[in-house]
Amino acid sequence: MTETNHIFENVPCTFCGCLCDDLIIEVSDNKVMKNTNGCAISNERFLGHAENRLLRPTVDGTDVSLEQAVDRAVKILKSSRHPLIYGLSSTENDAHRYAYRIAELVGGIVDNTTSVCHGPTILGAQDSGEVTASLAETRHRADLVIYWGSNPAAAHPRHIPRYIRQPGEYITDPKTERDIWVVDIRKTTTARMADRFIQITLGTDLEVLLVLRALIRGHELDVSVVGGLKIDELKEIAQTLKETKYGVLFFGLGLTQSRGRHRNVDAAIRLVQDLNSYTKWNMMPMRGHYNVSGANKTCTWQTGFPYAVDYSRGYPRYQPGEYSAVDALAREEVDAMVNIAADPVAHFPESVIAHLQKIPVINIDPKVNMTSYVAEVNIPAAIAGIECDGAATRMDGLPLYLRKVIDPPDGILPDRDILRMIYDLLKKEMKK
Ligand code: SF4
Repeated sequence: MTETNHIFENVPCTFCGCLCDDLIIEVSDNKVMKNTNGCAISNERFLGHAENRLLRPTVDGTDVSLEQAVDRAVKILKSSRHPLIYGLSSTENDAHRYAYRIAELVGGIVDNTTSVCHGPTILGAQDSGEVTASLAETRHRADLVIYWGSNPAAAHPRHIPRYIRQPGEYITDPKTERDIWVVDIRKTTTARMADRFIQITLGTDLEVLLVLRALIRGHELDVSVVGGLKIDELKEIAQTLKETKYGVLFFGLGLTQSRGRHRNVDAAIRLVQDLNSYTKWNMMPMRGHYNVSGANKTCTWQTGFPYAVDYSRGYPRYQPGEYSAVDALAREEVDAMVNIAADPVAHFPESVIAHLQKIPVINIDPKVNMTSYVAEVNIPAAIAGIECDGAATRMDGLPLYLRKVIDPPDGILPDRDILRMIYDLLKKEMKK
C-alpha cells in the first residue's frame, strides 16, 4: 500500500518519449491531487488517472473474474493457428518479457507500435548505422538544433523547455548561443517559435537531404530549386551546418512516414555522418510513446530483432512489411490478437479493422478505448508509472525507473502479472 498523503519527487512522466523524470506528484487518499513540472498532457495523464477506466474483466461484454478472463484468453490462444501479440510501447519492460514468451509458445507474431511510427528509423539505422548522443549532451553542447518533420511543441511539450532552452555546461545562454531550426512542410507551432523555419515541398525530404549532402561535399549542382528551396539557400544551409560547433538533428514522423520513409532516414543519417568529417553532429528520433524505445530494446534482447518478429517456425524471424501488425492483419494472416497498452482500432486503417472485427481480440489496457469495443476479452490493467513500478527507456536510450505513487483499483494487476498468468496457464494447457 502507498501512503495516504504523500509527495513523490523525481517521478518520471509516462506519456511521451521525453520521460521527464522531474515531476513532483502529490497524492491524497489514493488520488493524484497535483502534478508539479508536468506539461498539460502530463497533468491530464496523472490527474485523470481514474477517468474512463476499465474496472472489471469482461468476456463477450459480460463481467467475469480475472481467472475466467485469463481462461478465455488462453482458450483463444491455444486454438489460434497464428496469433498476433501487439502494443507494448505504453507499458513497462517487465510486461514485454511475457509477450515474447507467449508469442514463442504459440508460434505467433510479436510487434510493437514502432511498425506504425519509427519503423523506418530502425531500418535506416540498420542500413547506415546510428550517430547519437544523450539529451543531456544536447543541452550542454548544441549550438544548433534542427527539428525535421517534428512538432515537439504539440507532441513533446517539454522537449524544448527542458533540453533546448535550458543552459548547459558549455551553452550558458541558450537564447543567444543556441539556434532552433524547423524543417517542415507547413508552419507548425514549433516553427513559429523557432529561430528559422525552412519550408520544403511535401514529399521532397529525400531530395533536400541528398542535395545537402552533395553541397557539403563540395559538388556543384545543375538545378535552381529543390524541394521548394532555391539552390543558393540550400548552399547557405549546407555551409551553416558545416560551421556549427555541435549540431543535433531531431526528426519525427514527418520524415519517417512521408514519401521515401526509411530512405529519408538513411539519407539523414548519412548527412550527419558526412557532417562529422567537418564538425560534430548527432541525431535522434522523437519517439512518441514513452516506452517505445524500451519495446525495441527488450524485443532485441529477447528475439534478436526490434519489432515485427514471427515465431511460426519455432524461431524468431524478422520482416517488417510482412510480420508487422498492420501488414499481417491486412493479409488476414493472423486469426487472434492480444493487444497490450495500445489502441489499434483507433489508429489502424479501416480495412485492417474490418479483419480485427472478425477475429477474437484480447485487450489488456487500463482504460476503455476503441479496441475495448471490438474485444472478446477485456482485462483491466494498472497504469505503469502511476499504479505500478517498472522500467522504461527514454528516446535517447536512457533507462529510467518508474514510480508507483498510488494503488490500482481493487483487483487490478500490472500488465506483467496478467501476462504471466496467461503464459503460465497457456504453457500448462499446451502440454495436455
Ligand atoms: S513532455 Fe512528455 S514526458 Fe514530459 S511531462 Fe510532457 S508528456 Fe510527460
